Amino acid sequence: MIDFHTHSNASDGALSPSELLNRAAEAGIKAVALTDHDTIAGFASVSESVPLGVRLVSGVELSCQWGKVGIHIVGLGFDATSGGLVAHLNGLDSARLQRAEMIAHRLDQKGMPGALAGAMAVAAGAQIGRPHFARWMVMNNHVKTEAEAFKRFLGKGKVGDISTVWPDLQQTVGTIVEAGGLAVLAHPLKYRLTATRLNALCAAFVTAGGAAIEVINGRPGPGETDRLMSLAGAHQLLLSVGSDFHREGEYSAGLGVDTARFPSGSGIWERV
Ligand code: AMP
Ligand code: MN
Ligand code: MN
Ligand code: MN
Repeated sequence: MIDFHTHSNASDGALSPSELLNRAAEAGIKAVALTDHDTIAGFASVSESVPLGVRLVSGVELSCQWGKVGIHIVGLGFDATSGGLVAHLNGLDSARLQRAEMIAHRLDQKGMPGALAGAMAVAAGAQIGRPHFARWMVMNNHVKTEAEAFKRFLGKGKVGDISTVWPDLQQTVGTIVEAGGLAVLAHPLKYRLTATRLNALCAAFVTAGGAAIEVINGRPGPGETDRLMSLAGAHQLLLSVGSDFHREGEYSAGLGVDTARFPSGSGIWERV
């Protein structure tokens, strides 16, 4: 049992980094990467106090762009003090703040004033993201649920979906590699690309220095893991797996993935 894709309240997860590690220890998970969106603050806060029996791997989920498509790259096993990585993360802090200002401006135009201060208060020092806006919109009765906030205002193609502010794929993968880490293409099927475009994305990812693709993210649909394992094989990429845990809930996967079904030598967990 391992988990190489998890979120804490340093980004848009519900648990603190230490709560998350304690849960992982209780669940008998051997190795965990805390992969918060565009920040390693949570990882840094617990890296010296990991519960017995769990191995904490350095991790992050970096927002980037491939052409106009927003892509997530998970970085694993890097040196968290790498100057290039720290500079990249500082750039992402600014990009997220700028994007938050743009989202708030657009929500203001839709009759929802005060969204920036509101979402920042919800984030409470965490890396700001759309889920914090969604929470604020529920708290202020603009929508009934966070799902509705995404569906009407924040999701793909809606006013709060601003996708032109991230660094490009090549630079993002390069930053992880230069920091001594391995880059993983997160949830390849979530980008809703055609098979041809998904192959082109994998090719670009390999050229940039990518190491693996996620074949399990949360709860895969029927056949998805097999399809992704073939894709990995076609591009000579390793496999990675993770729950993408954000919080306890009916629709989200629990912590931990069993790696027993994967052929020996195929997993990034054998290299990190
Ligand atoms: P951001 O990182 O600010 O672009 O926000 C994206 C995050 O919002 C994802 O990592 C998910 O945790 C969450 N998210 C994306 N789509 C939805 C949705 N339809 N409903 C609820 N949460 C979502
Ligand atoms: Mn998230
Ligand atoms: Mn993601
Ligand atoms: Mn994630």
